[in-house]
Amino acid sequence: MLTVINPATEEPLAELEQAGVEETDAAVARAKEAFPAWKAVGPSDRARLLRRLATLVEEHGEELARIESRNVGKPISGARAEVGMVAQVFHFYAGAIDKHYGESIPVDGGVDVTFREPLGVVGLIVPWNFPLNISSWKLGPSLACGNTVVLKPAELTPMSALRLAELVLEAGIPEGVVNVLVGKGSVVGTRLVQHPDVAKIGFTGSTEVGRTVMGGAAATIKRVTLELGGKSANVVFADADLEQAAAAAPYAVFDNAGQDCCARSRILVERSAYDRFAELLIEATRGVKVGDPEDDATEMGPLISAAQRETVSSFVEGDPLFRGVAPDGAGFWFPCTLVEASNDDRIARDEVFGPVAALIPFADEADAIRLANDTPYGLSGSIWTRNGARALRVARAVEAGVLSVNSNSSVRVSTPFGGMKQSGFGRELGMHALEGYSEVKNVFLSTEG
Ligand code: NAD
Repeated sequence: MLTVINPATEEPLAELEQAGVEETDAAVARAKEAFPAWKAVGPSDRARLLRRLATLVEEHGEELARIESRNVGKPISGARAEVGMVAQVFHFYAGAIDKHYGESIPVDGGVDVTFREPLGVVGLIVPWNFPLNISSWKLGPSLACGNTVVLKPAELTPMSALRLAELVLEAGIPEGVVNVLVGKGSVVGTRLVQHPDVAKIGFTGSTEVGRTVMGGAAATIKRVTLELGGKSANVVFADADLEQAAAAAPYAVFDNAGQDCCARSRILVERSAYDRFAELLIEATRGVKVGDPEDDATEMGPLISAAQRETVSSFVEGDPLFRGVAPDGAGFWFPCTLVEASNDDRIARDEVFGPVAALIPFADEADAIRLANDTPYGLSGSIWTRNGARALRVARAVEAGVLSVNSNSSVRVSTPFGGMKQSGFGRELGMHALEGYSEVKNVFLSTEG
Protein backbone atom coordinates (compact mmCIF):
# COMPACT_ATOMS: atom_id res chain seq x y z
CA MET A 1 0.00 0.00 0.00
CA LEU A 2 1.04 3.57 -0.64
CA THR A 3 0.41 6.20 2.03
CA VAL A 4 -0.04 9.63 0.47
CA ILE A 5 0.97 12.49 2.79
CA ASN A 6 0.06 16.16 3.08
CA PRO A 7 3.55 17.75 3.18
CA ALA A 8 2.29 20.78 5.13
CA THR A 9 0.99 18.68 8.04
CA GLU A 10 2.66 15.28 7.52
CA GLU A 11 -0.82 13.76 7.92
CA PRO A 12 -1.91 10.92 5.65
CA LEU A 13 -4.32 11.83 2.86
CA ALA A 14 -4.98 8.37 1.44
CA GLU A 15 -3.89 4.74 1.37
CA LEU A 16 -3.70 3.46 -2.18
CA GLU A 17 -3.06 0.11 -3.82
CA GLN A 18 0.05 0.19 -5.97
CA ALA A 19 0.13 -1.28 -9.45
CA GLY A 20 2.81 -3.80 -10.35
CA VAL A 21 3.99 -5.21 -13.67
CA GLU A 22 0.80 -7.25 -14.12
CA GLU A 23 -1.47 -4.22 -13.64
CA THR A 24 0.74 -2.20 -15.97
CA ASP A 25 0.45 -4.83 -18.69
CA ALA A 26 -3.33 -4.90 -18.17
CA ALA A 27 -3.54 -1.10 -18.51
CA VAL A 28 -1.47 -1.18 -21.71
CA ALA A 29 -3.77 -3.93 -23.04
CA ARG A 30 -6.85 -1.79 -22.25
CA ALA A 31 -5.29 1.19 -24.00
CA LYS A 32 -4.36 -0.96 -26.99
CA GLU A 33 -7.89 -2.29 -27.27
CA ALA A 34 -9.38 1.21 -27.04
CA PHE A 35 -7.02 2.64 -29.67
CA PRO A 36 -8.74 1.70 -32.99
CA ALA A 37 -12.11 3.14 -31.93
CA TRP A 38 -10.55 6.30 -30.45
CA LYS A 39 -8.46 6.84 -33.57
CA ALA A 40 -11.65 6.54 -35.63
CA VAL A 41 -13.56 9.22 -33.69
CA GLY A 42 -14.09 12.13 -36.10
CA PRO A 43 -12.24 15.36 -35.40
CA SER A 44 -15.33 17.32 -34.42
CA ASP A 45 -16.47 14.63 -31.97
CA ARG A 46 -13.01 14.27 -30.49
CA ALA A 47 -12.86 18.05 -30.08
CA ARG A 48 -16.28 18.04 -28.41
CA LEU A 49 -15.11 15.41 -25.90
CA LEU A 50 -11.94 17.31 -25.04
CA ARG A 51 -13.93 20.53 -24.68
CA ARG A 52 -16.32 18.76 -22.32
CA LEU A 53 -13.34 17.62 -20.26
CA ALA A 54 -12.04 21.21 -20.16
CA THR A 55 -15.43 22.41 -18.94
CA LEU A 56 -15.59 19.71 -16.26
CA VAL A 57 -12.13 20.75 -15.04
CA GLU A 58 -13.43 24.32 -14.79
CA GLU A 59 -16.57 23.23 -12.96
CA HIS A 60 -14.50 21.16 -10.52
CA GLY A 61 -11.73 23.78 -10.39
CA GLU A 62 -11.88 24.51 -6.68
CA GLU A 63 -12.07 20.83 -5.77
CA LEU A 64 -9.07 19.97 -7.98
CA ALA A 65 -7.10 22.94 -6.64
CA ARG A 66 -7.73 21.78 -3.05
CA ILE A 67 -6.65 18.22 -3.91
CA GLU A 68 -3.45 19.53 -5.52
CA SER A 69 -2.72 22.00 -2.73
CA ARG A 70 -3.07 19.32 -0.02
CA ASN A 71 -1.07 16.70 -1.87
CA VAL A 72 1.82 18.92 -3.03
CA GLY A 73 1.74 21.51 -0.23
CA LYS A 74 1.42 24.28 -2.80
CA PRO A 75 -0.40 27.52 -1.95
CA ILE A 76 -4.06 27.38 -2.90
CA SER A 77 -3.80 30.54 -5.04
CA GLY A 78 -1.11 28.90 -7.18
CA ALA A 79 -3.03 25.62 -7.33
CA ARG A 80 -6.11 27.50 -8.62
CA ALA A 81 -4.03 29.11 -11.36
CA GLU A 82 -2.58 25.73 -12.32
CA VAL A 83 -6.00 24.10 -12.57
CA GLY A 84 -7.11 27.07 -14.69
CA MET A 85 -4.24 26.26 -17.02
CA VAL A 86 -5.24 22.58 -17.15
CA ALA A 87 -8.69 23.58 -18.44
CA GLN A 88 -7.10 25.95 -20.96
CA VAL A 89 -4.81 23.17 -22.18
CA PHE A 90 -7.79 20.90 -22.95
CA HIS A 91 -9.63 23.82 -24.61
CA PHE A 92 -6.55 24.56 -26.71
CA TYR A 93 -6.09 20.97 -27.91
CA ALA A 94 -9.83 20.61 -28.56
CA GLY A 95 -9.41 23.56 -30.94
CA ALA A 96 -6.14 22.23 -32.38
CA ILE A 97 -7.51 18.89 -33.60
CA ASP A 98 -8.83 20.16 -36.95
CA LYS A 99 -5.90 22.53 -37.48
CA HIS A 100 -3.19 19.90 -37.39
CA TYR A 101 -3.01 19.65 -41.16
CA GLY A 102 -1.21 17.34 -43.50
CA GLU A 103 0.23 18.62 -46.78
CA SER A 104 -0.13 18.08 -50.49
CA ILE A 105 3.27 18.05 -52.17
CA PRO A 106 3.80 18.69 -55.90
CA VAL A 107 5.15 15.51 -57.52
CA ASP A 108 5.34 14.05 -61.03
CA GLY A 109 2.70 11.57 -62.17
CA GLY A 110 0.21 11.91 -59.34
CA VAL A 111 -0.73 13.42 -56.05
CA ASP A 112 1.27 13.24 -52.85
CA VAL A 113 -0.32 13.85 -49.48
CA THR A 114 0.81 13.53 -45.89
CA PHE A 115 -1.26 12.44 -42.91
CA ARG A 116 -0.65 12.97 -39.20
CA GLU A 117 -1.17 9.52 -37.75
CA PRO A 118 -1.46 8.80 -34.04
CA LEU A 119 1.30 6.66 -32.54
CA GLY A 120 -0.89 4.19 -30.65
CA VAL A 121 -0.52 3.67 -26.90
CA VAL A 122 1.62 6.31 -25.21
CA GLY A 123 3.05 6.11 -21.70
CA LEU A 124 3.04 9.39 -19.81
CA ILE A 125 5.31 9.62 -16.76
CA VAL A 126 5.10 12.78 -14.66
CA PRO A 127 6.81 14.25 -11.58
CA TRP A 128 5.40 15.51 -8.28
CA ASN A 129 5.94 19.26 -8.58
CA PHE A 130 3.09 20.17 -10.98
CA PRO A 131 1.20 16.87 -11.13
CA LEU A 132 -2.04 17.88 -12.84
CA ASN A 133 -0.56 20.60 -15.00
CA ILE A 134 2.18 18.45 -16.48
CA SER A 135 -0.26 15.55 -16.93
CA SER A 136 -2.52 17.83 -18.99
CA TRP A 137 0.40 19.06 -21.12
CA LYS A 138 0.88 15.45 -22.24
CA LEU A 139 -2.72 14.25 -22.21
CA GLY A 140 -4.03 17.15 -24.32
CA PRO A 141 -1.86 16.57 -27.41
CA SER A 142 -1.89 12.75 -26.95
CA LEU A 143 -5.68 12.61 -27.06
CA ALA A 144 -5.99 15.29 -29.71
CA CYS A 145 -3.80 13.22 -32.06
CA GLY A 146 -5.88 10.09 -31.43
CA ASN A 147 -3.58 8.15 -29.10
CA THR A 148 -4.68 6.23 -26.04
CA VAL A 149 -2.63 6.66 -22.88
CA VAL A 150 -1.34 5.11 -19.69
CA LEU A 151 -0.52 7.92 -17.27
CA LYS A 152 1.75 7.33 -14.30
CA PRO A 153 1.75 10.11 -11.72
CA ALA A 154 4.62 10.37 -9.23
CA GLU A 155 4.29 8.16 -6.15
CA LEU A 156 4.13 11.19 -3.86
CA THR A 157 1.32 12.98 -5.73
CA PRO A 158 -1.21 10.69 -7.40
CA MET A 159 -4.41 12.29 -6.07
CA SER A 160 -5.26 14.83 -8.77
CA ALA A 161 -4.59 12.40 -11.65
CA LEU A 162 -6.99 9.89 -10.08
CA ARG A 163 -9.72 12.53 -9.88
CA LEU A 164 -9.00 13.65 -13.43
CA ALA A 165 -9.44 10.05 -14.65
CA GLU A 166 -12.99 10.14 -13.24
CA LEU A 167 -13.70 13.43 -15.03
CA VAL A 168 -12.36 11.94 -18.28
CA LEU A 169 -15.07 9.26 -18.11
CA GLU A 170 -17.70 11.79 -17.06
CA ALA A 171 -16.80 13.82 -20.15
CA GLY A 172 -17.74 10.80 -22.28
CA ILE A 173 -14.22 9.81 -23.35
CA PRO A 174 -14.50 6.01 -23.72
CA GLU A 175 -13.16 3.54 -21.14
CA GLY A 176 -9.60 2.48 -21.85
CA VAL A 177 -8.57 5.70 -23.61
CA VAL A 178 -7.03 7.18 -20.44
CA ASN A 179 -5.64 4.77 -17.85
CA VAL A 180 -4.05 6.07 -14.65
CA LEU A 181 -1.67 3.80 -12.73
CA VAL A 182 -0.46 4.53 -9.20
CA GLY A 183 2.87 2.84 -8.66
CA LYS A 184 6.62 3.04 -8.39
CA GLY A 185 8.75 4.49 -11.15
CA SER A 186 11.10 1.56 -10.88
CA VAL A 187 8.21 -0.86 -11.48
CA VAL A 188 5.39 0.79 -13.47
CA GLY A 189 7.63 3.36 -15.15
CA THR A 190 10.22 0.78 -16.13
CA ARG A 191 7.56 -1.57 -17.50
CA LEU A 192 6.00 1.21 -19.59
CA VAL A 193 9.41 1.99 -21.04
CA GLN A 194 10.05 -1.68 -21.85
CA HIS A 195 6.58 -2.62 -23.06
CA PRO A 196 6.56 -3.48 -26.78
CA ASP A 197 2.99 -2.17 -27.18
CA VAL A 198 3.86 1.30 -25.90
CA ALA A 199 4.86 3.45 -28.86
CA LYS A 200 6.15 6.48 -27.02
CA ILE A 201 7.09 7.75 -23.58
CA GLY A 202 6.33 11.35 -22.69
CA PHE A 203 8.53 11.85 -19.64
CA THR A 204 8.97 14.77 -17.28
CA GLY A 205 11.33 14.34 -14.36
CA SER A 206 14.98 14.40 -13.40
CA THR A 207 17.81 14.24 -15.92
CA GLU A 208 19.10 11.12 -14.16
CA VAL A 209 15.86 9.16 -14.64
CA GLY A 210 15.43 10.68 -18.11
CA ARG A 211 18.73 9.11 -19.10
CA THR A 212 17.46 5.69 -17.94
CA VAL A 213 14.20 6.19 -19.85
CA MET A 214 16.07 7.09 -23.02
CA GLY A 215 18.35 4.07 -22.65
CA GLY A 216 15.42 1.74 -22.02
CA ALA A 217 13.47 3.10 -24.96
CA ALA A 218 16.24 2.08 -27.34
CA ALA A 219 15.30 -1.62 -27.11
CA THR A 220 11.96 -1.06 -28.86
CA ILE A 221 12.93 2.14 -30.71
CA LYS A 222 10.28 4.00 -28.71
CA ARG A 223 9.83 7.66 -29.32
CA VAL A 224 10.64 9.78 -26.27
CA THR A 225 10.01 13.33 -25.22
CA LEU A 226 12.18 14.26 -22.27
CA GLU A 227 11.44 17.29 -20.11
CA LEU A 228 14.21 17.19 -17.55
CA GLY A 229 15.98 19.29 -14.96
CA GLY A 230 17.22 22.86 -15.18
CA LYS A 231 19.60 25.36 -13.64
CA SER A 232 18.34 28.47 -15.30
CA ALA A 233 19.91 31.91 -15.22
CA ASN A 234 18.15 35.16 -14.43
CA VAL A 235 20.50 37.66 -16.10
CA VAL A 236 20.20 41.22 -14.76
CA PHE A 237 22.10 43.96 -16.60
CA ALA A 238 22.94 47.25 -14.88
CA ASP A 239 20.72 49.12 -17.38
CA ALA A 240 17.61 47.13 -16.32
CA ASP A 241 14.79 48.44 -14.19
CA LEU A 242 16.50 47.05 -11.09
CA GLU A 243 13.50 47.60 -8.81
CA GLN A 244 11.25 45.60 -11.11
CA ALA A 245 13.83 42.86 -11.71
CA ALA A 246 14.50 42.49 -7.96
CA ALA A 247 10.81 42.52 -7.05
CA ALA A 248 10.14 39.71 -9.52
CA ALA A 249 13.26 37.59 -8.91
CA PRO A 250 12.16 35.82 -5.69
CA TYR A 251 9.02 34.48 -7.34
CA ALA A 252 11.11 33.09 -10.19
CA VAL A 253 12.94 30.85 -7.69
CA PHE A 254 10.70 30.43 -4.67
CA ASP A 255 7.43 29.74 -6.47
CA ASN A 256 6.36 26.18 -5.69
CA ALA A 257 9.04 26.34 -2.95
CA GLY A 258 11.71 26.26 -5.65
CA GLN A 259 10.51 22.87 -6.89
CA ASP A 260 10.24 24.12 -10.42
CA CYS A 261 12.27 22.91 -13.38
CA CYS A 262 12.23 26.51 -14.70
CA ALA A 263 13.44 28.02 -11.40
CA ARG A 264 15.80 30.89 -12.19
CA SER A 265 18.07 29.73 -9.38
CA ARG A 266 21.23 31.39 -10.71
CA ILE A 267 20.74 35.13 -10.47
CA LEU A 268 23.53 36.68 -12.56
CA VAL A 269 23.97 40.39 -11.89
CA GLU A 270 26.24 42.89 -13.66
CA ARG A 271 28.94 43.81 -11.17
CA SER A 272 28.33 47.58 -11.32
CA ALA A 273 24.72 47.04 -10.12
CA TYR A 274 25.42 44.06 -7.86
CA ASP A 275 25.32 45.73 -4.40
CA ARG A 276 22.17 47.74 -5.14
CA PHE A 277 20.44 44.72 -6.66
CA ALA A 278 21.39 42.49 -3.70
CA GLU A 279 19.84 45.01 -1.29
CA LEU A 280 16.62 45.17 -3.31
CA LEU A 281 16.52 41.38 -3.69
CA ILE A 282 16.86 40.80 0.05
CA GLU A 283 13.99 43.20 0.71
CA ALA A 284 11.81 41.51 -1.89
CA THR A 285 12.64 38.04 -0.55
CA ARG A 286 11.78 39.14 2.98
CA GLY A 287 8.29 39.91 1.64
CA VAL A 288 7.53 36.37 0.41
CA LYS A 289 4.67 35.02 2.52
CA VAL A 290 5.53 31.49 3.69
CA GLY A 291 2.95 29.45 5.56
CA ASP A 292 -0.29 27.47 5.48
CA PRO A 293 -0.96 26.53 1.84
CA GLU A 294 -4.72 26.73 2.43
CA ASP A 295 -4.48 30.44 3.28
CA ASP A 296 -5.35 32.58 0.23
CA ALA A 297 -2.49 34.99 0.97
CA THR A 298 0.28 32.36 1.19
CA GLU A 299 2.92 32.54 -1.53
CA MET A 300 5.16 29.62 -0.55
CA GLY A 301 4.40 26.32 1.15
CA PRO A 302 6.60 23.45 2.36
CA LEU A 303 8.81 21.12 0.36
CA ILE A 304 7.32 17.86 -0.84
CA SER A 305 9.05 15.49 1.60
CA ALA A 306 11.56 15.08 4.42
CA ALA A 307 14.05 13.63 1.92
CA GLN A 308 13.70 16.69 -0.30
CA ARG A 309 14.29 18.97 2.70
CA GLU A 310 17.45 17.07 3.55
CA THR A 311 18.74 17.44 -0.01
CA VAL A 312 17.94 21.16 -0.08
CA SER A 313 19.61 21.73 3.33
CA SER A 314 22.81 20.15 2.05
CA PHE A 315 23.22 23.09 -0.36
CA VAL A 316 23.38 25.74 2.38
CA GLU A 317 26.63 25.84 4.32
CA GLY A 318 27.65 28.54 6.78
CA ASP A 319 25.89 31.90 6.85
CA PRO A 320 23.90 32.66 3.72
CA LEU A 321 23.40 36.22 2.46
CA PHE A 322 19.77 35.99 3.59
CA ARG A 323 17.60 33.40 5.29
CA GLY A 324 13.86 34.00 5.61
CA VAL A 325 11.44 32.52 8.09
CA ALA A 326 9.35 29.37 7.86
CA PRO A 327 6.86 27.71 10.22
CA ASP A 328 8.12 25.31 12.94
CA GLY A 329 6.59 21.96 13.73
CA ALA A 330 4.94 19.54 11.38
CA GLY A 331 5.53 19.97 7.65
CA PHE A 332 8.63 19.92 5.47
CA TRP A 333 9.40 23.65 5.74
CA PHE A 334 12.44 25.42 4.42
CA PRO A 335 12.95 29.20 4.38
CA CYS A 336 13.73 31.33 1.31
CA THR A 337 17.51 31.49 1.17
CA LEU A 338 19.94 33.64 -0.84
CA VAL A 339 23.57 32.62 -1.21
CA GLU A 340 26.48 34.51 -2.79
CA ALA A 341 28.34 32.14 -5.08
CA SER A 342 30.59 31.63 -8.04
CA ASN A 343 29.35 29.64 -11.02
CA ASP A 344 31.71 26.80 -10.08
CA ASP A 345 30.12 26.21 -6.68
CA ARG A 346 27.84 23.21 -6.20
CA ILE A 347 24.89 25.55 -5.54
CA ALA A 348 25.36 26.94 -9.07
CA ARG A 349 25.99 23.58 -10.76
CA ASP A 350 23.30 21.25 -9.41
CA GLU A 351 19.55 21.56 -9.42
CA VAL A 352 18.54 22.34 -5.82
CA PHE A 353 14.78 21.97 -6.30
CA GLY A 354 14.17 24.03 -3.21
CA PRO A 355 13.98 27.71 -2.22
CA VAL A 356 17.69 28.51 -2.47
CA ALA A 357 19.03 31.00 -5.01
CA ALA A 358 22.65 31.75 -5.91
CA LEU A 359 23.65 35.36 -6.56
CA ILE A 360 26.57 35.55 -8.99
CA PRO A 361 28.26 38.73 -10.38
CA PHE A 362 29.33 39.12 -14.02
CA ALA A 363 31.60 41.64 -15.77
CA ASP A 364 29.94 42.36 -19.12
CA GLU A 365 27.61 40.96 -21.78
CA ALA A 366 30.08 38.32 -23.01
CA ASP A 367 30.73 37.18 -19.45
CA ALA A 368 26.98 36.98 -18.76
CA ILE A 369 26.45 34.73 -21.80
CA ARG A 370 29.45 32.58 -20.88
CA LEU A 371 28.17 32.06 -17.33
CA ALA A 372 24.56 31.50 -18.39
CA ASN A 373 25.74 28.74 -20.76
CA ASP A 374 28.26 27.22 -18.36
CA THR A 375 25.88 24.46 -17.25
CA PRO A 376 24.88 21.08 -18.65
CA TYR A 377 21.25 22.22 -18.53
CA GLY A 378 19.36 24.42 -20.99
CA LEU A 379 15.75 24.81 -20.03
CA SER A 380 14.75 28.35 -19.21
CA GLY A 381 15.95 31.80 -18.19
CA SER A 382 15.36 35.54 -18.10
CA ILE A 383 17.13 38.63 -19.38
CA TRP A 384 16.56 42.02 -17.76
CA THR A 385 17.75 45.08 -19.70
CA ARG A 386 16.30 48.27 -21.19
CA ASN A 387 18.43 47.78 -24.32
CA GLY A 388 16.24 45.93 -26.84
CA ALA A 389 19.09 44.97 -29.16
CA ARG A 390 21.04 43.50 -26.27
CA ALA A 391 17.94 41.63 -25.09
CA LEU A 392 17.63 39.89 -28.45
CA ARG A 393 21.38 39.30 -28.79
CA VAL A 394 21.56 37.62 -25.40
CA ALA A 395 18.32 35.69 -25.92
CA ARG A 396 19.75 34.23 -29.15
CA ALA A 397 23.06 33.40 -27.44
CA VAL A 398 21.71 31.69 -24.33
CA GLU A 399 21.42 27.92 -24.86
CA ALA A 400 17.96 27.37 -23.40
CA GLY A 401 14.62 26.37 -24.88
CA VAL A 402 12.39 28.93 -23.17
CA LEU A 403 13.42 32.50 -22.37
CA SER A 404 11.74 35.69 -21.21
CA VAL A 405 12.85 39.31 -21.42
CA ASN A 406 11.99 41.74 -18.62
CA SER A 407 9.72 39.03 -17.28
CA ASN A 408 10.14 35.63 -15.65
CA SER A 409 7.11 34.15 -17.27
CA SER A 410 7.88 31.69 -20.04
CA VAL A 411 5.15 29.05 -19.93
CA ARG A 412 2.00 29.57 -21.96
CA VAL A 413 -0.59 27.17 -23.31
CA SER A 414 -0.11 28.25 -26.92
CA THR A 415 3.71 28.51 -27.01
CA PRO A 416 6.33 25.74 -27.17
CA PHE A 417 8.00 24.62 -23.98
CA GLY A 418 11.05 22.38 -23.60
CA GLY A 419 14.76 22.15 -23.12
CA MET A 420 18.11 22.13 -24.88
CA LYS A 421 21.24 20.22 -23.79
CA GLN A 422 20.64 17.92 -20.79
CA SER A 423 17.28 19.54 -20.04
CA GLY A 424 15.88 17.21 -22.66
CA PHE A 425 14.28 17.42 -26.09
CA GLY A 426 10.88 17.58 -27.72
CA ARG A 427 8.40 20.38 -27.11
CA GLU A 428 5.25 20.49 -25.05
CA LEU A 429 2.34 22.92 -25.31
CA GLY A 430 1.22 24.90 -28.34
CA MET A 431 0.89 23.30 -31.77
CA HIS A 432 4.49 22.07 -31.41
CA ALA A 433 3.46 19.37 -28.92
CA LEU A 434 1.36 17.66 -31.59
CA GLU A 435 4.59 16.79 -33.45
CA GLY A 436 5.64 14.61 -30.54
CA TYR A 437 2.41 12.61 -30.44
CA SER A 438 1.91 11.92 -34.14
CA GLU A 439 3.84 10.47 -37.04
CA VAL A 440 3.92 11.88 -40.57
CA LYS A 441 2.74 9.37 -43.15
CA ASN A 442 3.35 10.05 -46.83
CA VAL A 443 0.99 8.65 -49.51
CA PHE A 444 1.47 8.88 -53.28
CA LEU A 445 -1.52 8.37 -55.58
CA SER A 446 -0.77 7.80 -59.23
CA THR A 447 -2.98 9.74 -61.62
CA GLU A 448 -1.59 7.95 -64.67
CA GLY A 449 -3.43 5.29 -66.56
P1 NAD B 1 11.98 11.75 -11.01
O1 NAD B 1 12.81 11.69 -12.24
O2 NAD B 1 12.49 11.13 -9.78
O3 NAD B 1 10.55 11.08 -11.29
C1 NAD B 1 9.73 11.49 -12.35
C2 NAD B 1 8.77 10.36 -12.68
O4 NAD B 1 9.52 9.25 -13.18
C3 NAD B 1 7.98 9.83 -11.49
O5 NAD B 1 6.68 9.51 -11.89
C4 NAD B 1 8.76 8.57 -11.13
O6 NAD B 1 7.96 7.61 -10.48
C5 NAD B 1 9.17 8.07 -12.50
N1 NAD B 1 10.34 7.18 -12.50
C6 NAD B 1 11.30 7.05 -11.55
N2 NAD B 1 12.19 6.10 -11.92
C7 NAD B 1 11.80 5.66 -13.13
C8 NAD B 1 12.33 4.69 -14.05
N3 NAD B 1 13.44 4.02 -13.78
N4 NAD B 1 11.69 4.50 -15.21
C9 NAD B 1 10.57 5.19 -15.52
N5 NAD B 1 10.01 6.10 -14.68
C10 NAD B 1 10.63 6.33 -13.51
O7 NAD B 1 11.64 13.29 -10.83
P2 NAD B 1 10.84 13.97 -9.63
O8 NAD B 1 11.72 13.94 -8.43
O9 NAD B 1 9.47 13.40 -9.54
O10 NAD B 1 10.69 15.45 -10.19
C11 NAD B 1 11.68 16.40 -10.08
C12 NAD B 1 12.48 16.50 -11.35
O11 NAD B 1 11.62 16.74 -12.46
C13 NAD B 1 13.44 17.67 -11.35
O12 NAD B 1 14.68 17.30 -11.86
C14 NAD B 1 12.78 18.68 -12.27
O13 NAD B 1 13.64 19.61 -12.86
C15 NAD B 1 12.14 17.80 -13.25
N6 NAD B 1 11.04 18.52 -13.91
C16 NAD B 1 11.21 18.91 -15.21
C17 NAD B 1 10.21 19.62 -15.86
C18 NAD B 1 10.35 20.04 -17.30
O14 NAD B 1 9.34 20.28 -17.94
N7 NAD B 1 11.55 20.14 -17.84
C19 NAD B 1 9.03 19.93 -15.18
C20 NAD B 1 8.89 19.52 -13.86
C21 NAD B 1 9.91 18.80 -13.24
